[in-house]
Amino acid sequence: MGLSFDPDQLTLPIHHLIGGERIAAKGGLEMRRPSDGKAYATCPVADGAMVDRAVESAKTALKASNWGGLRPRERTKALQAWADLIEQEAETLAKIEAVSSTRPVGQLIAGDIAVTAEQIRFFAEFADKQGSDVVPTDDSTFGMTLSEPYGVVGAITPWNFPISMAGWKLGPALAAGNAVVIKPSEMTPFSTVYMAELAVRAGIPAGLINVVLGDGPVTGNAITGHPDIAKVSFTGSTRAGSAIMENIARCGVKPMTLELGGKSPQIVFADADLDKAAAAIAASVLFNAGQACVAGTRLMAEKSIAARLIEAITAILKTARPGPTWDERVQYSPIISERQLARIDSLVEAAKAEGGECLTGGHVMNTPGYFYAPTLISGVDQHNPAIVEEIFGPVLTVQTFETEEEALALADHPVYGLASGLFTRDLSRTLRFARALQAGTVWVNRYSRSRDHILPTGGYKRSGIGKDLGREAYEANRKSKSVLINL
Ligand code: NAD
Repeated sequence: MGLSFDPDQLTLPIHHLIGGERIAAKGGLEMRRPSDGKAYATCPVADGAMVDRAVESAKTALKASNWGGLRPRERTKALQAWADLIEQEAETLAKIEAVSSTRPVGQLIAGDIAVTAEQIRFFAEFADKQGSDVVPTDDSTFGMTLSEPYGVVGAITPWNFPISMAGWKLGPALAAGNAVVIKPSEMTPFSTVYMAELAVRAGIPAGLINVVLGDGPVTGNAITGHPDIAKVSFTGSTRAGSAIMENIARCGVKPMTLELGGKSPQIVFADADLDKAAAAIAASVLFNAGQACVAGTRLMAEKSIAARLIEAITAILKTARPGPTWDERVQYSPIISERQLARIDSLVEAAKAEGGECLTGGHVMNTPGYFYAPTLISGVDQHNPAIVEEIFGPVLTVQTFETEEEALALADHPVYGLASGLFTRDLSRTLRFARALQAGTVWVNRYSRSRDHILPTGGYKRSGIGKDLGREAYEANRKSKSVLINL
C-alpha cells in the first residue's frame, strides 16, 4: 500500500492556531474533496475579533521571546529544527494536504514537502549573513543603515501549492525576525495549521506563527487592513491582489509583496531539440493539471516545425491518467473545485466559439471527481479568450510565427508577465530574448524551477510586485533605517 491511504480515516486539524493554542470553531464553508467531490469538512471563518487575537498573540510572542533581537544564529537553528521535523512528519503532512488539494500524495513527498524543508533551511541561513551596512560619508560623520524586522507580517496564500506557499512566506519572515499571522486558502487550509503545529514542537516560540482560517472578504480583509500588521505578503490572483491594494490604501499605508497570476508563453524555434521541448511543454501543462501560476499555457512554434511539435506534445498530453490524490500511483491532478472545472470548460467553449479548434481534450473527464482532459487549442488570435484569460487548468494554446519579431509580439501579454520559456540552440537569440521578454522569469531549454532557491520569482506587469524566494524575499521582510552621527 505504501503511501496510498483511505481519506475517510484521516483526522484533520480543523482549527485556528493562535499562540500555539488550537481554537476550535464550528460551521463555516463547506469543503469538497477535488478527487471525488465528497463533502468532508467545513472551513471556519475567522472574523475581525479572531484576527485581532492572532495579532495580539504575535506581538506578545515577539516581545516575550525577543525573536527579532536574538543572536541571529538562534533563529537559524530553530528554523532548521522545524525543517527537520517537517521532513520527519512528511507522511502525515502529505496526507492532510492530499485530501483537500490537487496535489498527489507521491508528488508531495518527493516534491513539495522535500523542497519546502530545503527552502526553510535556505532562508534560515540568511539570519546571520545578511545585515546592516556602514556607508561611505565624509570623516566628520559616521553613517550606517540598520536593518530591522517589521514586527508582525500578514501572509495570505492560495490553494494550488499550500505547503510550498506557506514555506515561501513563513521561512523568510521568521528568519528575518518577524512574527506572522497567516491565512491559507479556505479550500486547502489544514496543511498550514499542521506545519505551524510542527513549528511549535520544533521549538519556535508559540505565537510567532498564528494561523487563522477563513475566506478573503472577511478574514483576508481583516488581516490586510489591520493597523498592527506592518507588512503584507500575498500570493493569489491578480483580482484579489488588486482588492488587497485597495483595502490597504483605504485602511492606511503599508508595504506589500504581491505574487499574482500569469499566462506564460513558451517559444520554440526550429533549431531546438524538439523532443525535449515537447516533453517540457507538455509537463508544464500536466503538472498540477495546469494549476500553477507559472504554467506555460501559450505555445508559440516556428511554422516549419509546428506540426511535428504539436504531434509530440499531443501524444504526451494523452497519457494523463486521472485518479485520486491519495493513490500514490497517480500523477495527474484533479481541478480544485466543481466551480473551477465549469469555468475551465466554459472558457474552452468560448475559445471554440471564437475560432479555436481542440486538437486534443476540450472536455470534462468521465471519472469521479473534478478532472479536465489535457487540452490543446489551435486557431486562436490575440483576442481569443484562451489567449487572454488565465484559465488555470490544463489548457494549452498554439500559435505559429516566422520571425523573432513575430514571436516576441505574440509572447507579449497585455496583463501578465510572470514567466516565459524559450527553446533554441542559438546563443545570440537566447540573449536577445532574455532581454526582450517581459516576464519575471525566463527559462531557456527547460520549463521548470530548479532547486536553486537563490533565484527569486515574481512578476512583471500585473503579475505582481516584489519577489518570493532568493535574497529579495528575505530583504522584503526587513526595513532599513539610516543613522548619521556627527563625530
Ligand atoms: P485567490 O486570489 O482567489 O485567493 C488567494 C488567497 O487570497 C486565498 O487565501 C483567498 O482566501 C485570499 N483572498 C481572496 N480575496 C481576498 C481579499 N479581497 N483580501 C484578502 N485575501 C483575499 O487565488 P487562488 O484561486 O487561491 O489561487 C490561484 C491564483 O493564484 C492564480 O491566479 C495563480 O496564478 C496565483 N498564484 C500566483 C503565484 C505566484 O507566485 N505568482 C503562485 C501561486 C498562485
